[in-house]
Amino acid sequence: MSLSNAPPPNLEPWQSHAPALGVYVHIPFCVLKCAYCDFNSYAGLSELHAPYVAALISELQLQTERADRPIVDTVYVGGGTPTVLPPDAVGSILTALHECCRVAADAEITLEANPGTVSRQTLHALRGHGVNRLSLGVQSFDDAELRLLGRIHSAAQAREAVSAARAAGFTNLNLDLIYGLPYQSVAGWLTSLEGALRLEPDHLSLYCLTLEEGTPLYEEVSRGSVPASDPDLAAEMYERARDLLARHGFVHYELSNWARHATTSRYNSRLSLEPGCRSCRHNLKYWTGQPYLGIGAGAHSYLNSVRWRNVSQPAAYIDAISHSGSARCDEELITTEGRMAEAMFLGLRLVAGVRWSELYARLGCDLRRKYVLELAELDSEGLLTVDAESARLTPRGQLLANQVFVRFLSSCERSGRPGADRE
Ligand code: SF4
Repeated sequence: MSLSNAPPPNLEPWQSHAPALGVYVHIPFCVLKCAYCDFNSYAGLSELHAPYVAALISELQLQTERADRPIVDTVYVGGGTPTVLPPDAVGSILTALHECCRVAADAEITLEANPGTVSRQTLHALRGHGVNRLSLGVQSFDDAELRLLGRIHSAAQAREAVSAARAAGFTNLNLDLIYGLPYQSVAGWLTSLEGALRLEPDHLSLYCLTLEEGTPLYEEVSRGSVPASDPDLAAEMYERARDLLARHGFVHYELSNWARHATTSRYNSRLSLEPGCRSCRHNLKYWTGQPYLGIGAGAHSYLNSVRWRNVSQPAAYIDAISHSGSARCDEELITTEGRMAEAMFLGLRLVAGVRWSELYARLGCDLRRKYVLELAELDSEGLLTVDAESARLTPRGQLLANQVFVRFLSSCERSGRPGADRE
């Protein structure tokens, strides 16, 4: 992809920031490392929790002081496991955010939680600190699968966490589930999914297991002590989930994400994406090229065509913030060519696809003309539906989405040039 690693001196992404920003806050701590996890997360390190929170607040103050209290309309506290921190620590981060930024009155404020680290009291306190959307990493309702994944909680604890979240006043609740596991059958997967549906979540994120090199599960599969999952079975699980969730009134709005339609929900919350659909407003920023600021170890930011990343290790992050006020280790200016390719392969993750008029307004370029060859090929292969208004993945294209995305990446590589241009 034609991204430059050599930004000009004095790169100043805050110069003309967009009116509303998403803020991502990374909490890299977990109780134990799960067997499949290659996220930027670390077990233990409890001695770093307090200095890390102090560093987060410093970074937030330093990052935003040049921007005259930017408007923020979504906040996402992710990890790791944010709920390993005491609720008051999360509260202090959110208080700092309100001091440094103009947080919209109806801002979506999401927090990821592990069912093994929450109680009715902690969830009540988090709700009191302003968290209004909870994302629970349930992953499965089968205890044997949870053990295989190295999760610290049981299915019963996940059900208790949902009940505690509702009792604490959370009216916007997501559950994460994983499919395509070793030993998992289609029937077993549907049993887990039906278990989730009985809890009436407002949103579901369904991810196919990816075996990441270096993880304990990858090693076990490589050694042959655990069978590899069958990709055809995983595809069938996805299709069956898509059908089941449609029958239960969920809107499939992104490849891995479904939101309950308001008319089928018992709970009220701010609606987004389309009338009645409770899509995650923060994640929509990633898929639609909107600006976001990432705070914390390994967090990514994207603002005015500049993308940067912080150092990953929590101790190195704390040191960098305390010594220089910045933990940036990598930044790049995204070329116009790169932005166009990203607009296609990120936008096509949305089930509604990309709208040519919206892309023209954002990028000043007719992407239907630019990608005329790729679009015609993908249309003829039955992977995309292309018309005068938009392009979107077909149901088959949703199963083979990576084959679609790579066409835009390779087109970008063919026509990209070294260096970077900035609009
Ligand atoms: S809880 Fe999440 S971030 Fe932590 S180790 Fe498990 S999968 Fe990774």
